[in-house]
Order: sequence, then C-alpha cells, then structure tokens
Amino acid sequence: MARLYEYEGKEIFKKSGISVPEGEVVTTPEDAGKVAERLGKAVVIKAQVWAGGRGKSGAVRFADSPKEAEKVAGDILGMEVKGLAVKRVLVEEKLDIAQEFYAGMIINSARDVRAPVLMFSAEGGVDIESVSEDKIAMHTVDVLRGIHPYDTLNMALSLGVSGKNLRPVSDIIYKLYTVFKNYDCRTVEINPLVLTTDGKVYAADCRMAIDDAAVFRHPELGISIGREFMSEPTEFDLMAWTFEEEDFRGTSYVAQMVSESEMRKGGYIGYHGIGGGAAILGVDALNKVGLKAADYADTSGNPTASKVYRVAKIIFAQPGIEGYFLAGFMMANQEQWHHAHGIVKALREEIPKKPGFPAVLLLCGNKEKESQEILKEGLKGLPGRIEIYDREHVYDAKFIGGRVRALVDEYRKDRGI
Ligand code: GDP
Ligand code: MN
Repeated sequence: MARLYEYEGKEIFKKSGISVPEGEVVTTPEDAGKVAERLGKAVVIKAQVWAGGRGKSGAVRFADSPKEAEKVAGDILGMEVKGLAVKRVLVEEKLDIAQEFYAGMIINSARDVRAPVLMFSAEGGVDIESVSEDKIAMHTVDVLRGIHPYDTLNMALSLGVSGKNLRPVSDIIYKLYTVFKNYDCRTVEINPLVLTTDGKVYAADCRMAIDDAAVFRHPELGISIGREFMSEPTEFDLMAWTFEEEDFRGTSYVAQMVSESEMRKGGYIGYHGIGGGAAILGVDALNKVGLKAADYADTSGNPTASKVYRVAKIIFAQPGIEGYFLAGFMMANQEQWHHAHGIVKALREEIPKKPGFPAVLLLCGNKEKESQEILKEGLKGLPGRIEIYDREHVYDAKFIGGRVRALVDEYRKDRGI
C-alpha cells in the first residue's frame, strides 16, 4: 500500500468536494509563521509523517499567534515521531470542535466478503479499533451497484446524526466512497471528521493509501515506488526499485534499513535473503550473533540472474558493511541456478576490491546440485573469505549465523579492529 501524507490526501479531498481546513504545508518555522499570519487566526500545526497517533505524541499542537506558530513549528520540525524525522508540517486554521466523527473505507478481504466496506462512527477522534462495534455503522459496497446518497444518510441516521447536521455529514461519507474509487485506494480514513460550533463539517485529518497495483494509473500523485514503506524511499531504495520496474520476472524487494553513517559504525552485513520467511530467519541469525542487516533484500519468485546480480551489486555498494550474506534458508521451489549465476558475476567483480571480505552463501532448492557447482567453480580462487553451504544447513540459523560472525571477526583482525 503506497501511502500518502495527510496534506496530499487533503488536496485530493479538496478537489473532490470534501471540505478541509484552510492551510498550507511548510518545511521551515519561518514559513509556518507566515502561513499563520496569512490565516489571521489560531492555528493547528501537524507533523507530516506516516504514523498515526500524532496527537498523543505531541506532534499535533496549537498556536494563537504567528510568533507562537513559528516556535511550535520549530519544535515539531526537530522531532522524531515513532522513529520518523519530521520534515514538513501542515499549518491549518484551528477548528472549534462541537463533535468528532469517524468515516473510513477499507477493503475487507475475508473470503465471504471481498469488497470495500464503508464505516462511520459518531465516536471520532479516538482509535477506531477501540470503539465498540455497535457504535460503528458499516456498509459493504456492492461494487456493481455502487452506493447511493440514501445509503450514507441511513448510516449517519442510524448513529443519531440528525437535523441540519445530517446532510453535510452524510454527504462527506458519500464523497469518501467517490475518492476511494477514483483514486484506487486500499484505505481512506477521516478521523476526526469534525462538526464545528458554527455547524460546518470538515475532514480534519486524512489517512490514505493507494493500491500498489494501481499506482501507475495515478502519475499525478507522484508516488515513486508502489509499495509500502515506513518512511520515504531513500536514494538506495529508488535505485533498487529500477531493477524491479524494468524487469517483472521474479521479484526483488530491497530496502535500506539504517542510515549510511550508522552503517559505517560497524557490525552491519550486506543482506540478501531468498523468499520472505527465509529472509526473516536470516536477519534473525545475524541478530543472534550481534550483527545487523544494513539492508533488507529478498530476491524470489524465480528472478532472472540479471536481477539477482543487480541486487547483489547494490548490496555491495553500501558503505562500511563487513560482509555479504546470501540467506537462502529454505528449499526453494524456484530453480536456484539463476541465483548462482547472478551471485558469481557480482562476487567476481566485488570481492577482488575487498581482499579477505566475508561472504557466506547458503543456497538450496531445485537445481541445487548444479547451482552449487556454479558457485564453487565460479568463485574459485577469489581473494575473499567465501563459504558456500547447501541443504545440509537449511533452516540452520545457529550454525550459519555463527559462520558469518567468525568470518567477520577474522576480517576485523586483518584490519586491526
Ligand atoms: P492523529 O493523532 O495522528 O490522528 O492526528 P489528528 O489530526 O487526528 O489530530 C489529533 C487530535 O487533535 C484530533 O482528534 C483533535 O482532537 C485534535 N485536533 C486536530 N485538529 C484540531 C483543530 O483544528 N481544532 C481542535 N480543537 N482540535 C484539533
Ligand atoms: Mn487522526
């Protein structure tokens, strides 16, 4: 699920006829002050990060004057929220809240449903998971029929919304479905949907994620990678994505795990798993011996040798890594000789640049015998500490992790560490 920031989601809302508070996204405290000045009233300042619960983390705060807005924005821009650095803040007019609602849409993938579900609750502003089910109105959407305005009127009515508030509230729930459909969302959530003391209704927050497979239909959203990331893709992530984008045979998932300066501190291994579950086992094997994965990489689903080669090359390009670890911790169904060829080519280019460099390779599964021969023959005589393992050590995280550790220690000794 490719996520959007609150301010991006709100731009979509605005275009779709859903009222949002007036405001602007900025990157400096000075600009935050200017926006507050222009709005000419009390403001709310909100960290733009891909994390919920910002209110509780002190990342949503208020300011009564431009000067105060500048100060508060400075504080929030210097913060980390759930491990994410805040690079932008949204400065908006502060609403006078009379009531908070929740409106959201998700896809229910349960076998007997498999449809979008519209949800509404009169208990907004809190985590929807904590609201009891009888206080949430749900409407499973028949995608061929779509929804009609009276469906959302009924939802709002069923939870006690009435009088002059009924139409504007139900209208936003209705439009939420339109946004969901037009932008190929996986989820879209307004929490809180605010009714102000002067009787207006606004989307005060927005969480939106686009279906990865539909990202290509929305170049206007500027999503660089159609996958779920914890934070914005790094230069490394973007480069690795090009392998995937240009070659759909098999998959490569590659993500930078820590900053380059952190990698240089030592204890980081260039990590290359094969298959999701097995890849996690490999990370665990490293952690158990006091080492860490600099990156997370997983080539699987019968990728081509060229894709495996490119992934291995970018892993080697990480600064400060103390080893390379190919963690094929399971009996893969794919024919492993493609991996063997890709790895041989990459290591033949990289190992001579780093004499003594540790490389632990575990590869098993279909065409294992041939793959092992390709590795042994192709890597013969290279000046690294290369160890090659087969099915005899499948799932053997303790042994393999121990070998990585031992080779890293030897390599450190070479370098007087
Ligand atoms: P979240 O905690 O990350 O979901 O961030 P929200 O944008 O939902 O903000 C958290 C809470 O701050 C909301 O539930 C509101 O109670 C409060 N809040 C946000 N914007 C305003 C506003 O304009 N006026 C007032 N009075 N409260 C606000
Ligand atoms: Mn919220």
